[in-house]
Amino acid sequence: EPDSKIAIVGSGLIGQFWAMIFAGGGFKVTIFDIYPEQISKALENIKLTLSKYEKQGCLRGSQSAAEQAALVTGCSDLEKCLQGASYVQECVPESVDLKKKVFEQMDPFITEEMVVATSSSCICVSQFVGNLAHKHRTLVAHPVNPPYFIPLVEIVPGPWTLPDVTAKCRALLEQVGQSPVTLSREVAGFALNRIQYSIINECWNMYQDGLLSAEDIDRVMTDGLGPRYAFLGPLETMHLNADGIVDYCNRYAQGAYNVCKTFKPPPVMYDVPTAEKMLKEIEKTIPVAKVPERRTWRDERLAALAALKRNL
Ligand code: NAD
Repeated sequence: EPDSKIAIVGSGLIGQFWAMIFAGGGFKVTIFDIYPEQISKALENIKLTLSKYEKQGCLRGSQSAAEQAALVTGCSDLEKCLQGASYVQECVPESVDLKKKVFEQMDPFITEEMVVATSSSCICVSQFVGNLAHKHRTLVAHPVNPPYFIPLVEIVPGPWTLPDVTAKCRALLEQVGQSPVTLSREVAGFALNRIQYSIINECWNMYQDGLLSAEDIDRVMTDGLGPRYAFLGPLETMHLNADGIVDYCNRYAQGAYNVCKTFKPPPVMYDVPTAEKMLKEIEKTIPVAKVPERRTWRDERLAALAALKRNL
């Protein structure tokens, strides 16, 4: 419903992104934070960022940056922030105790019409809503940084989440231009990090074995798998690399299995000596002091890729 309101609880980096995404979809957004001065800072930052996106041609939605910024208001009272909201996105720092506290504070204001999502990157919702009256209306909606340009959202329902809540969450995220996936149940790392860690593990092991340099390992992704994966996933890749995925398995499964049998177990914690050795290499092109600058570069490249994919 276009008139319904979105509530954002916690207005740091991710809370601000969510506010801009929902405003881009034409929704009224109210942001709350425990620090009133953070709310003003967030509103100012949202206004500046939307106008920057407008100038760069990557603003979402049909309204101007000023019109979108006007949809976002601040509120230093949690109850008022949630009042009349159809959807709540919690974005407080990643800590079980803090999320528990914030969800307990929200519980009396949650209605049977609301969907209440946490942005949590690793914590499953069942770890902090077990005692709530409205636990059946809560779930994880985990975005990927920067969510304005990387549309994936992982929806992870808890054991008590009503199917209708999961479905509503997915429909709303699609409506505002995100690209949700739904897990059937909670699992450590959700889907993205399970895949990401399996990649990092193999990179780590190959580096430790002296197979190739840090730069060349990254190049395998940026100039090899990465460009392909921007458009099709590993399963469709199998399907296209033969006459369908069954034919792929008939032809290549034995070869793949022979390779997989040479994999080492996951590295036991990413060890500091290996990380320090990698740092020496990586620092030749990106000194640690230049990391913030490089993050800006990354976000610009991702914005350009998002625009390319939109316009193809
Ligand atoms: P952040 O530190 O930038 O923002 C957190 C905000 O929450 C701050 O403004 C803080 O003042 C506010 N806050 C603290 N206690 C509060 C309370 N009791 N009530 C209301 N507000 C409170 O953190 P972030 O990077 O935006 O992360 C927020 C959540 O999103 C975390 O769960 C994180 O794991 C998840 N997430 C982060 C990223 C990322 O790349 N940063 C990506 C995906 C998901």
